[in-house]
Amino acid sequence: MIEIELAIVGAGPAGLSAAIEARRAGVDVLLIDENARPGGQLFKQIHKFFGSRAHKAGIRGMNIGTELLQESEKFGIKTWLNGEVCGIEDGHNLWVVRNREKSEIVRAKKIILATGATENAVTFPGWDLPGVMGAGAAQTMINVNRVLPGKKVIMLGSGNVGVIVAYQLLQAGAEVVAVLEAAPRLGGYGVHTAKVCRAGVPFYVSHTIKRAFGTDHVEAVEIVKLDSSFKQIPGTEHVIEVDTICLATGLTPLTELAWLAGCKFNFVPALGGHLPIHDDKMHSTQNDIFIAGDISGIEEASTAMEEGRLAGINVATELGYITKEEADARSQEIWDNLNTLRSGYFGQKRRDAKDSMLQNGKEVIKWNIH
Ligand SMILES: Cc1cc2nc3c(=O)[nH]c(=O)nc-3n(C[C@H](O)[C@H](O)[C@H](O)COP(=O)(O)OP(=O)(O)OC[C@H]3O[C@@H](n4cnc5c(N)ncnc54)[C@H](O)[C@@H]3O)c2cc1C
Repeated sequence: MIEIELAIVGAGPAGLSAAIEARRAGVDVLLIDENARPGGQLFKQIHKFFGSRAHKAGIRGMNIGTELLQESEKFGIKTWLNGEVCGIEDGHNLWVVRNREKSEIVRAKKIILATGATENAVTFPGWDLPGVMGAGAAQTMINVNRVLPGKKVIMLGSGNVGVIVAYQLLQAGAEVVAVLEAAPRLGGYGVHTAKVCRAGVPFYVSHTIKRAFGTDHVEAVEIVKLDSSFKQIPGTEHVIEVDTICLATGLTPLTELAWLAGCKFNFVPALGGHLPIHDDKMHSTQNDIFIAGDISGIEEASTAMEEGRLAGINVATELGYITKEEADARSQEIWDNLNTLRSGYFGQKRRDAKDSMLQNGKEVIKWNIH
């Protein structure tokens, strides 16, 4: 058994930021990630972030990832890669499978869960054919592994992941034959959607996939129009030749470890579904377990980094490395950043959902652990 002050599960933007803040304060940190390289989703993000300079606008996601890695190396943060955390016991013991062969127990005084999110799937006849994949999987293939998943692609879902990946597929040399959206309006930020429009890709709102055709891989897709109750309208079907179908139909927080740890949950559809209840310090309802990033509600890498910092600072305070006054002052600064990030049309909806969750969290946590 290995003993440590703080174990962080997930080395994406949230986990890395938490590790840096906690280590900066003097906490002995172990960062664990199942991948061969830290950075989570950041290394897929070859596009520039936008917003203000304080939020790294104009910098590509992968470069933000590199900056975080350099900082984490500067602080000498212990990192286990190829380490899958598959269990949690007593709120302190993590079961880690390392390199797919050896299992170890890590006993931590505090744990931060920063496990991110997983892609949602939708089913239709033929959805199990090779060539049907999550948009995130296609993004990993083109931007991380430099492999084109197919030559003629249809994207289901016009949210940010759908339009960003559609554009990146075009950049990688694929033909994107259409972007479909079940809702009557497009879902992504205008800046990303406009780039795909300018490239001449048609968007079909109120449309979905009825079936995929093919024998050992996708050869065509049948699309159909939806009415205002999302029911398919017979007679509106048409078939398009494609070899790849990308599903960008939302993300769900990866919460299994929080469930196993006994954290209490809320159901918040605007943030991706069931979420561990937490307070403004990212404290869950379990005494020594904090959360940060997409596990606390689907947002963006910029908010994940701020939440990671909050969790890292507040863990350092509970372990006695930072005074409460210092932590409160720094947390306030981070909250100002978060509130700015959560402004605007899309941000406001998330901010409202988060605010009501935090109110609830404060009450629940007060009764549970203090
Ligand atoms: C497929 C996908 C595509 C996205 N594309 C964009 C985009 O283009 N632009 C944008 O702004 N935002 C995008 N996002 C959202 C943004 O990337 C996230 O909000 C941000 O990365 C969240 O940071 P995080 O640290 O919470 O999670 P992540 O970056 O997902 O990092 C979590 C890490 O934890 C690891 N992990 C999970 N469970 C375990 C376990 N049990 N044991 C060990 N390791 C574990 C994961 O493998 C991962 O490395 C995307 C998200 C996804 C899922």
